[in-house]
Formats: sequence, C-alpha cells, structure tokens
Amino acid sequence: MKRVLVVVGHGMVGHRLVQEVRERDRADDWRVVVLAAESHAAYDRIALSAYARGADPTELVLDGASFTADDRVEVRRATPVTRIDRVAAAVVTADGARTPYDALVLATGARPFVPPVPGHDLPGCHVYRTLDDVAAIRERARSGRPAVVIGGGLLGVEAAGALAALGMFPEVVEAAPWLMAVQLDEGGGRLLGRLVDGLGVRPRCGIGLSSVDAGADGRVRSVTLADGQVVPADLVVFATGVRPCDELAVDADLPTGERGGFLVDARCRTPDPRVWAVGDCAAVEGRCHGLVAPGYRMAAMVARELCDDGDGGAFTDPDLSTKLKLLGVEVGSFGDAHARSEGAMEFIRSDRGGARYAKLVLDGETGALLGGVLAGDTAAYATLHSLLGSPLPGPPHELLDPACPL
Ligand SMILES: Cc1cc2nc3c(=O)[nH]c(=O)nc-3n(C[C@H](O)[C@H](O)[C@H](O)COP(=O)(O)OP(=O)(O)OC[C@H]3O[C@@H](n4cnc5c(N)ncnc54)[C@H](O)[C@@H]3O)c2cc1C
Repeated sequence: MKRVLVVVGHGMVGHRLVQEVRERDRADDWRVVVLAAESHAAYDRIALSAYARGADPTELVLDGASFTADDRVEVRRATPVTRIDRVAAAVVTADGARTPYDALVLATGARPFVPPVPGHDLPGCHVYRTLDDVAAIRERARSGRPAVVIGGGLLGVEAAGALAALGMFPEVVEAAPWLMAVQLDEGGGRLLGRLVDGLGVRPRCGIGLSSVDAGADGRVRSVTLADGQVVPADLVVFATGVRPCDELAVDADLPTGERGGFLVDARCRTPDPRVWAVGDCAAVEGRCHGLVAPGYRMAAMVARELCDDGDGGAFTDPDLSTKLKLLGVEVGSFGDAHARSEGAMEFIRSDRGGARYAKLVLDGETGALLGGVLAGDTAAYATLHSLLGSPLPGPPHELLDPACPL
C-alpha cells in the first residue's frame, strides 16, 4: 500500500517539493495530496510584477502545476488546512474533511506584515503578495493619480515600479537612509534612488510613516509622515516585510522560532518525525529566509529524505543573492554585500556620469570573493556570483571594467 504525503500550501516551494518527490520516488512509494489555500494553480510569485504590469495570470502558472497527467498527485485548491491532528496523523481542512498522512510537509509560506499605524486598513490600502492582491491593485489604480508605497525594500521598489507602469505617480516612503538597504550599500542604494526617480518613482528615504488618512468618502486620500508632511495618495501599498504563516503550530503543539515560523532543524524536521516545514514558513534552526533559493534547497533536501534518495545533507549557508526585477533598473547584490566579514576589503568603482556603481568584497587574507553590489549594469552579475568563495581570476578592477567602465 502506498504511503500518503500531505503537502500544506502550493506556493513556489511546495510545488518544487512535490516535483522533487515525484522525480526521486523511484519505488513509487508515495501518493501525494496537496492542500492549497489559494484558488489559482501554483504560480511564480516572483514574477507577480509582470501581472501588475498587465501580463495574463496564466503566464505565471508554474510548469506542471496541475499534475493532470500524474495520478499519484492530487491537488485540492481553495482548501486551506485549519488544523493538524498529530495524534491521529491527519489534517483537517476548512470544509471539515480529514486527510490522514504518513508524512506531512508544511509549505504555508508567508504573509505581508502591515504595521498597525492609524488608517492602515482603510479602503485603498493594499499589500503585494498574491495574484488576488495584485488584481485588487490593478482594479483600483487610476492613471495620473498619486500613490504611496510604504517600504523601500526589494518588494516596495517593485510595487512602485508596477504602479508607475499603471500610469500612477508613486512615492516610496522608507525609514532607512536609502532604498533596498538590506541588500545594497550606500553607493548602490543612492544610485538606485536616482534610477527609479527616472522612471517616475519618487523615493522619500530616512522618514517613517505616521498615519494613513481618509478623505470625506472614507477612502485613502493621503499619508502623513513622521515629520508632519502630508503626501497625497489615492492608493497605498504596504511592502513592510512578511511574517511566516505558522498559525497551525499552536493547536498542533509544534514549536515556532523566536520571530515566528515552524521551528525545524538543519534538515527541516520538526520534533515530530512525521512532520517537516520548508520555504518561507520554516524557521531553520530559528531563522526564516523569505527567498526562494533557500526554499528550493529545503525542498530538495526533504524530498531526498522522504524518498530515501541518499543523504540530503543539512541546510547551511543559504544563497541570499537578489536582483531587482524592474524594467530599466539594473541592481543586484550577492554574498557579503555590506563587507561585514572579518578582514573584508572593498573595491568600489563608479563611472563618471554616476550611472553605474560596482563593488566587490574580498577576503583580505585569501583574496576570495565574498560578495558584491552592482547598480546601473548587472551584466557581470552571473559571472561574479559564480566566483563567490573563489579567488578572483584577475585584478578586481579588471573584473569591474565590464560592469563599470571608467
Ligand atoms: C512580488 C514579489 C517578488 C519577489 N521577488 C523575489 C525575488 O526576486 N527573489 C526571491 O528569492 N524571492 C522573491 N520573493 C519571495 C518569494 O516569492 C518567496 O520566497 C517564495 O514564494 C516562497 O515560497 P513558499 O512556497 O515558501 O511560500 P508562498 O509562495 O507564500 O506559498 C505558500 C502557499 O501556501 C498557502 N497556504 C498558507 N497557509 C495555508 C493553509 N493553512 N492551508 C493551505 N495552504 C496554505 C498560501 O496561500 C500560499 O499559496 C518575492 C515575493 C513577491 C511577493
């Protein structure tokens, strides 16, 4: 008799996990049941901005998302899991049905965090995580009208670019001194500010949000900043971080990390030998990652373990490299972009016109490449990224030449 693997959540990582299991399950051991809260077929969340800019949502559907040709996989959409009964080894869904499992993988992802400022829930306030969120933004956006994005991280910059593409005049409010401050150093962040300005997105950095304000119709009309400035806005998008979807842990008595997420070890195992967590919802040794590449590694690791397909290894050193996906704005960072490693040395170049900026971070002792920032031109990104951890094949300035000619 086949064993039943239940996967909760059919996002990017949940889907990858199912694919990995189907590929590795040579003994045809598993029947897979995927329980998905969203009503859409699993889609490329990273490409959500393409939908915001007008792409058809079907273009975002992940390869093989419906598993129509695979009778070992059943995907139940719009069927959120509401409870895990670990004693009976079964999950309960919102429709009241119980699905028993031999193995359970939680891949519930994350949801946007909205700071509880006054007015945060007014009509006209949006978040940017799902196809439905973006559909609501598309419906509300009016060409020629002002909008405000709260949060100037990767997501906020992308959301603002999408609003500009919809004809709005977005401003980005960011408490840090420059945009994408987690990924970029000051040189890269300031150049990014100038580049997005050129696309009609106005950055307002180094300032917090005080409130979202309503007009006479009860809808969003403006935001008030910490210094009292009032910025007009027909539409507000919060891009102020995410929190792991870990509510199922409470009833199931599964531990969570200090900052949320199902607490798992370096092999993505919860203390229950039948339950794993992968992707944005997993606090691996206490830490959530919020990026897809680490999630894919977790998926591969767990699939190998489930299928007895060699040693999946442990989760170490996640790849936190990021590249902004905004048409006309090239920005990326990889490795130790802020040169925080001990003994790190920085090589920085910016061209005379101020349109390009590049930085390499090297180990002062071994000369190995530890990280870097590219802004204005990311053509060298793949090459440099592939050299991470290795000594450079030539002097740093030669490598930076293509990214940032003098
Ligand atoms: C616009 C945008 C751009 C991004 N760009 C990048 C990028 O450039 N690089 C990068 O690495 N990452 C990026 N990310 C983050 C990336 O999308 C996530 O890291 C990735 O989607 C995580 O996959 P996941 O499967 O863990 O979670 P998710 O994709 O969030 O999927 C989780 C799924 O589980 C479902 N679910 C939740 N609870 C339940 C339940 N109780 N029952 C059933 N189903 C449930 C959710 O509805 C959801 O469909 C971006 C995100 C956004 C929104």
